[in-house]
Amino acid sequence: WAGGFSDKGVYDWSSEEEEPVGRAEPVQVLVVKDDHSFELDEAALSRILLNEAVREREVVAISVAGAFRKGKSFLMDFMLRYMYNQGSEDWLGAPDEPLTGFSWRGGSERETTGIQIWNEVFLVDKPDGRKVAVLLMDTQGTFDSQSTLRDSATVFALSTMISSMQVYNISQNVQEDDLQHLQLFTEYGRLAMEETFLKPFQSMIFLVRDWSFPYEFSYGQEGGMKFLEKRLKISENQHEELQNVRKHIHSCFTNISCFLLPHPGLKVATNPHFDGRLKEIDGEFINNLKVLVPWLLSPENLDVKEINGNNITCRGLLEYFKAYIKIYQG
Ligand code: GDP
Ligand code: MG
Repeated sequence: WAGGFSDKGVYDWSSEEEEPVGRAEPVQVLVVKDDHSFELDEAALSRILLNEAVREREVVAISVAGAFRKGKSFLMDFMLRYMYNQGSEDWLGAPDEPLTGFSWRGGSERETTGIQIWNEVFLVDKPDGRKVAVLLMDTQGTFDSQSTLRDSATVFALSTMISSMQVYNISQNVQEDDLQHLQLFTEYGRLAMEETFLKPFQSMIFLVRDWSFPYEFSYGQEGGMKFLEKRLKISENQHEELQNVRKHIHSCFTNISCFLLPHPGLKVATNPHFDGRLKEIDGEFINNLKVLVPWLLSPENLDVKEINGNNITCRGLLEYFKAYIKIYQG
């Protein structure tokens, strides 16, 4: 459905002023503009977080962060399927169903450094009886120049500060510069946080896409943990800089884990007409998706956002979001 009533944009999706209610879609809440200033769409964020059904609920904020064109939105669409089919064995859907949600088809998307939030917050019953609100965030940046790296660092820092779980989406391997970027992001975050509270960040998950050494470290979480342990190991004969990056990362997060995901197959990676249907995705990838997504999102694994040891509600998160942005705006 593209457009609606065309006249003066009353129900025109492209209209800035009049947004139709009830449509589930990603909303750009934070944009980094060409002059490197930040713009928070406070109205849009408020509409999502102050919705009556969720505003007093404790919030689980899940962020997927990383560079463009590395399959983040593609993954998030499967996370959406899981959330929309809570408790169902068949959450992955039918083999012929195109994938929808966060836009992911190559080319159509303008590459905006910033944060997008799915405007539907999901209510989930945890096994301990608590009902929590689950927020999905897509955070992206570019890393091609000094200035864009700084923008990306700020956006990453913000999304790490407001999420309870940060999924760091990286391609093929955990390279030294991925770790350096992470150090930069978290340093930006810590700078802003020192005066306000003591607690470090919550969970960091290294999600390695197109992992191609399963014979060394097997796909999934166990292989991922072994791999990451090796990558993050601090040894005396390492250069001091390398040691510091590792110490820093360890000191920032309560939980650090890793998942190795196989390549999804050539149709996904190269066919411009691919629309996300399961039957065109490699079986190995799908099998691992069936492990990864519940590992991230099943009710028992959802951790409520904590700041200073306090559980945060959707309403509270909005306030923190606004306060943090101010710090970076100087
Ligand atoms: P994003 O910019 O990080 O959100 O990336 P997208 O989800 O939009 O995906 C960019 C392109 O990569 C699309 O053509 C996808 O079909 C493809 N893609 C999705 N997942 C993967 C993956 O795990 N590996 C590879 N090689 N390509 C992928
Ligand atoms: Mg994307």
